[in-house]
Amino acid sequence: MLDFDHAQTLLANAAGPLDRVEDVALADLAGRVLARDLTATVDIPPADNSAMDGYALRAADWSDAARLPVQQRCYAGDTPEPLKPGHAIRLFTGSLIPEGADVVVMQEDAEEADGHVRISRPPALGQHIRLRGEDTLAGAPLLAAGTVLEAAHVALLASQGMATAPARARLRVGILTTGDELVPPGAARAPEQIYNSNGPMLAALARGMGAEPVHVLHARDTEADLLAAFKTLLADCDLVLSVGGVSVGERDLVKPALATLGGELSLWKVRMKPGKPVALAQIGGKPVVSLPGNPVSAYAVFTLLVTPLVRRMQGRETLFPPVSLLPLRTERTRQDSREEFLRVQRRVADDGSAELVPYGHQGSGVISSLPWSTGLARVPADTPVQDKDRVPYYDLRHWLA
Ligand code: AMP
Ligand code: MG
Repeated sequence: MLDFDHAQTLLANAAGPLDRVEDVALADLAGRVLARDLTATVDIPPADNSAMDGYALRAADWSDAARLPVQQRCYAGDTPEPLKPGHAIRLFTGSLIPEGADVVVMQEDAEEADGHVRISRPPALGQHIRLRGEDTLAGAPLLAAGTVLEAAHVALLASQGMATAPARARLRVGILTTGDELVPPGAARAPEQIYNSNGPMLAALARGMGAEPVHVLHARDTEADLLAAFKTLLADCDLVLSVGGVSVGERDLVKPALATLGGELSLWKVRMKPGKPVALAQIGGKPVVSLPGNPVSAYAVFTLLVTPLVRRMQGRETLFPPVSLLPLRTERTRQDSREEFLRVQRRVADDGSAELVPYGHQGSGVISSLPWSTGLARVPADTPVQDKDRVPYYDLRHWLA
C-alpha cells in the first residue's frame, strides 16, 4: 500500500507541461493558462487625470474670497488647455489634468456662477489627481507564466491594450468508462443495468478545470473492447483517464489491456478511503490514469490525485491548492488504518466560525453525497479524531478549479 501523500506526489509528476501555445483573444481568455511572463508596456494611467468631477486649479490661487474665471470645460477624452494663472478648468472623472494645475477640487466644494467658481475649502496639494503610472509602470512585471486567467487578469491585459495573450493549448483529456452493467443516460435500462454516471461526471470535471474532454468512450469488459478504446484515446488525447475495471475481480481487465499496449505500469493500492485501487501507465509518453469505478471513489481520486497532474500538464503555477484546518463535527471518534476523506459541508456558525459537517452516508457509491458536499475532510490514518478536532479540509471550489 502506498500512502496518500506519496501517491499524490508521484501522480503530480507523471507528465510535464504541454508545450503547445496559442494566441487567444481577450474574450476567450478566462480559464486559460498564461504561457509566458508578461511585462507592462504602458503606464497606467497613461497620464495624470482627475479622480473626481470638479475643477482643476493652482492651490496657490485659492483664497476664501477668490472667484476664479472658468477657462475651459474639459470632458474625459478632451485635451485640456494649459491653465492660465488665476483661472480654473471645469473637469470630470477621467479628464486629463491641465498643464499648470496642481489640485482638483470636487464639485461639492465649489460654487459656479457667471463663468466664475468659488471654492469653499483650501485644497491640499495634489488632491484628487490620479498620477501617471501610479497603478502600473511600463517595464514592470505584469503577469507570471502559469497564471490561470480570470476576469481580473483580462481587465489588466486589456488596460495594457493587449487584444490577445499567449495561452497554453487546452489539455486534451480522453475518458474511458468500463463495465457490462452500464447504459448511457437517455437509453433504455434493463433491471440489471445502471446508468453510466462516471463518464459525464469526469467530462464535467475535466471541463471545470479548463481542459477539453475530447472523447468519452465506453468499453465492455473485454480486452478487445478496452484495447480499441485505449488506442483511440491515446491517438487523440494528452491524458487518458479510465474508470472501473481496475480492481482484482475476474472482469477487471484494464490492467492487462494497458500491459498489452506496452504500458509501463504501476498499480497502487493507495492508503485512502474512498479510493484504493489507482493505476498509472505511461504509453507512448502519455499518462493513463485508471480510477476506481465507484462514483464517489472516482470523484475523490480525481479531486485529490488527478487534479495536480492536470494542473502540471496545463503548465499552471500552483499544483496543490491550499488545505485549511477546520473543526470536524462527529458523533463518534473516527479512526481508520487508511486516510479517510469524508464528504463534508463547511458551515459558518452564528459567531462567524466555520466547521465541517459530514454527510450522513459515507458509502463509496452514494452519489447524492457529492452535490451536497463543499469539500473533503481528511481523517489521518491511525489517528483518532474526536468532535471539534481540527482536520485538513480540501475545498472543492479550489481543488476542482
Ligand atoms: P469496478 O471497479 O468496475 O468493479 O466498479 C466498481 C463499482 O462502480 C461497481 O458497482 C460499478 O457498477 C460501479 N461503476 C463502475 N463504473 C461506473 C460508471 N461509469 N458509472 C456508474 N457506476 C460505475
Ligand atoms: Mg466494472
